[in-house]
Amino acid sequence: MFFVSECKTEQRQKRVLTLGISHESNTFSVLPTKESEFNVLRGSDVLKGQLWADVFKKAGVEVIPTLHADAWPGGVVERAAFENFKKEILDSLKKAGHLDGIYMDMHGALHVEGYDDAQATLIKEIRDVVGNDVLISGSFDLHGNPSPDFVKYINLMTAYRTAPHRDAAETKVRAVQMLVDAMNSGWKPDIQYVVIPILVPGEKSITEVKPLHHIYVQLPGVAKMEGLLDASIFAGYCWADLPRSAMRVFVVAKDKKYSTEAKNEAIRLAKLIWDKRKEMVLDVPSGSIDEMIKKSEEYKEKTVFISDSGDNTTAGAPGDNTQVLDALLRNKVKNALIAGIVDPEALKGCIDAGYGKNVRLKLGGKVDNVFGKPLEINAKVLFLSPDPIMKTDRGVAVVETNGVKTVIIKSRRSFVGINDFKEAGLNPLDFKIVVVKLGYLFPELRDIAPVHLIALTSGFCNLDIRTLPYKNVHRPSYPLDPDMVWEPL
Ligand SMILES: [Zn+2]
Repeated sequence: MFFVSECKTEQRQKRVLTLGISHESNTFSVLPTKESEFNVLRGSDVLKGQLWADVFKKAGVEVIPTLHADAWPGGVVERAAFENFKKEILDSLKKAGHLDGIYMDMHGALHVEGYDDAQATLIKEIRDVVGNDVLISGSFDLHGNPSPDFVKYINLMTAYRTAPHRDAAETKVRAVQMLVDAMNSGWKPDIQYVVIPILVPGEKSITEVKPLHHIYVQLPGVAKMEGLLDASIFAGYCWADLPRSAMRVFVVAKDKKYSTEAKNEAIRLAKLIWDKRKEMVLDVPSGSIDEMIKKSEEYKEKTVFISDSGDNTTAGAPGDNTQVLDALLRNKVKNALIAGIVDPEALKGCIDAGYGKNVRLKLGGKVDNVFGKPLEINAKVLFLSPDPIMKTDRGVAVVETNGVKTVIIKSRRSFVGINDFKEAGLNPLDFKIVVVKLGYLFPELRDIAPVHLIALTSGFCNLDIRTLPYKNVHRPSYPLDPDMVWEPL
């Protein structure tokens, strides 16, 4: 009887359930992230156009997609949002029947009000339903902070190997391919890791430049070593005042018999990173906004992108700080663009005034009233999104004040690609100065920007993290404790 049942198991189509709650939660921000801010996909919509879904299809795996929720980086996630998502996932899991695997599509820096570690709670409750035999694989943004409490419940994991991110799709493919291979081969994977006590912003841990470039490029080679499946370096997320905020190296072994090799590689990579900690600095010139405006004059004829880094909406800041607009007007800069300032009220003011009209606006400073305040300007309305778009969250107005154009946006997002400018009727390269609410430039802009400068503005994503009011991060941590001694063990 045992033999017959074994044969049936071998021939049966593998079944995998998928889920995801992706968020980068800035614990310093005063603006909580609400359920309505999540883009939620369910059922077959989850799989549309996803390369990772094709991996399952090709392998003949039956996929049960549940809830995949994803929101723009922001403040801590409201408790009800997480609990509703979690309940829906667990309810689906309980109804799913026999499963061989679970794929978790995560960011890794989720933090929820009222929870010490919501990601660990989620995966533990999943384990409580499915037991320990179902393989769980996860893909992550390298800016995640997955804790030891989370990792003890997962079997396979991998993270982006590029920042700015260029490999999201292939990372997810890798996580799914590992899961398929592990299900088919009967591997019992083991994850070895080292937590490195370094807090570093993404802008100082870019993978395309030294010192991290030559370490990240080693990851595919490590993953190909005998008995190993994958290797990841998490730069972590430093704008989360949590004990789990740190850099990490993870190495996944096929089986416990390769755990020593995995551990040795994790230690080796961690040591390389630790030894380079003092070289993790910004890769472009930086300074106060006034200094960066002055510096832009050095680059004659060239468009200069300036990041308003303290109000970086891709790292969770509110995006309505007007300090850079104020500085441009104060310095009487002409031919500059600010993309953009979040202010639905001011946007409505522009719509009410109408195209080509002058309007008096009390702009920004409504959400971030810690580092910013509203700026009163007289402006001319130069552009309004056409009607179908204006009704969506992507509605914008472009106004001009004394040679400075400002894009006023309805809801929190960033101008990360060329299309964001196109939608507002703009070509960034037409301007002398383009201000973006980013830290590093995202790939499309990085590739076209003739010059990039980082303004060290104040805000919830302050790049000088030594000034942040940390209370809960692990101490000692570099650079808060600059002289600390550490050995990866
Ligand atoms: Zn990221």
